[in-house]
Amino acid sequence: MLPKFTYARPKSLGEALAVLDDRPALIHGGGTDLLGCLRDRILIADTVVSLSAIDELRGIRSITDGGLRIGAMTPVAEVAADATIAARYPGLAEAAASVASPQLRNQGTIAGNLCQKPRCWYYRGDFNCLRKGGELCYAYAGENQYHCIFGGDLCYIVHPSDTAPMLAALGAVLRITGGRSNRSVAVEKFLVPPSEDPRRETVLEIDEIVTEIVIPPPPAGSRSSYRKARTRQAWDFALAGVALALVFDGDTVTSADVFLSGVAPVPWRSTGVEAAITGKTLDTATIEAASEAAVAGADPFSENGYKVPLVKGLVTEQLEAIRTN
Ligand SMILES: Cc1cc2nc3c(=O)[nH]c(=O)nc-3n(C[C@H](O)[C@H](O)[C@H](O)COP(=O)(O)OP(=O)(O)OC[C@H]3O[C@@H](n4cnc5c(N)ncnc54)[C@H](O)[C@@H]3O)c2cc1C
Ligand code: SF4
Repeated sequence: MLPKFTYARPKSLGEALAVLDDRPALIHGGGTDLLGCLRDRILIADTVVSLSAIDELRGIRSITDGGLRIGAMTPVAEVAADATIAARYPGLAEAAASVASPQLRNQGTIAGNLCQKPRCWYYRGDFNCLRKGGELCYAYAGENQYHCIFGGDLCYIVHPSDTAPMLAALGAVLRITGGRSNRSVAVEKFLVPPSEDPRRETVLEIDEIVTEIVIPPPPAGSRSSYRKARTRQAWDFALAGVALALVFDGDTVTSADVFLSGVAPVPWRSTGVEAAITGKTLDTATIEAASEAAVAGADPFSENGYKVPLVKGLVTEQLEAIRTN
């Protein structure tokens, strides 16, 4: 059962900020993650502030430099279906379409997708693990088949968002506003790895709201794609995934931003793949080298070694697909 809390539904950003300035409160986007966290006592709140009545936080529009602005409260389904996104950033449309189920995509927002809490079953269960303020990571010697193979440090979650790795690859920036200041943070820097702080997921302060996501214009010759592997083709989180944002000059890759999902506590920039393909044509030897580079340094647990060949296969298939796009 949900605990009792005060519910505020301001009609403007200013009113929402005033509530956050007045007292500690949690932000409600679509509520698809937040309400479960409150019900399961993972999050505690006296006040919940819904952003659903603030029209200025919704919508997708082109901006003057040729980039795109997506309002924080835009449903994931709208991102998946938007014609401009499909034409200019197809990888983002693919990533949004791969999130959860149609119902969750209609209700869940793009900012909520970036800010959602980890899915580790100890964290979601009755375990006071290190991320929840306890002393121990239960996954370390426990049931770790869905945990990370890169970047673990005291905590071994995988970041659950499908849109975060693609937005990071596209160089997207979040606009954040709080009582005292406005700031812009690249998606790549927004999510906090456990090596920096195993008890927080984002750089957001308690009184800050993500208001919009800004994606730079796609360079000439750019192509993007996102694909994830999951245990079944119905809704499910990524076991592993690959987000590619490449720029081609003819058949040659002139620049590459490559992020993996489902394998690290934050979207994982694969510098090995980027180096293996930049300046090259995507022939068989290059793709083979890239897939090997993708898993260099992987450090699987007892139960999740399958992620190593899975990542290699996904990188191979996605590079083969994007070269003929
Ligand atoms: C069964 C199920 C399956 C799912 N499968 C997937 C999946 O395959 N891939 C995937 O990526 N996700 C998946 N999700 C997660 C879900 O789709 C996302 O959680 C959704 O996009 C969250 O959006 P929301 O608006 O509902 O967030 P909310 O639940 O409203 O909020 C989530 C978090 O973000 C914070 N927040 C929300 N908006 C803002 C804002 N503007 N500024 C600051 N903080 C904010 C909230 O305070 C909260 O902590 C799944 C969820 C469920 C329940
Ligand atoms: S992986 Fe992180 S969230 Fe999961 S039990 Fe360990 S410390 Fe907790």
